[in-house]
Amino acid sequence: MAFCPHCGTQSPDNYTQCPNCGASLPQVQTAPQQPVYQGPPNPYAGGYPGYPQPMMQPQEPVTSAGAWFGWTLLLGILPVIGAIIMLSASNDPSAKNYAKLMLILQAVVVGLYILFFVFAAVMS
Ligand SMILES: [Zn+2]
Repeated sequence: MAFCPHCGTQSPDNYTQCPNCGASLPQVQTAPQQPVYQGPPNPYAGGYPGYPQPMMQPQEPVTSAGAWFGWTLLLGILPVIGAIIMLSASNDPSAKNYAKLMLILQAVVVGLYILFFVFAAVMS
């Protein structure tokens, strides 16, 4: 029911004017016409309608040995690049010797990585 703001007479909701005094009535929004915001769908309470309830954790993609080899080699090459930059940019003989040492160590590490990868590839 709507109440007339002018005289207070009750009138049905679909009335736009007061039947008593003729004043225009405020349009009362009835529940079915008003979209009711219910918040985002709760994924823990059924999820989106029409979507199947997601299973447990999705399986993580398997990283292949070759991909690991690439990543570790990439990470192993970064200090080599830094050492080369240090070797070419620095005028300090001590820094140059340090960079040379780093290059040698990285060469050993990368060599071991390659050996390990070949070993793992043969064994698998
Ligand atoms: Zn009225």
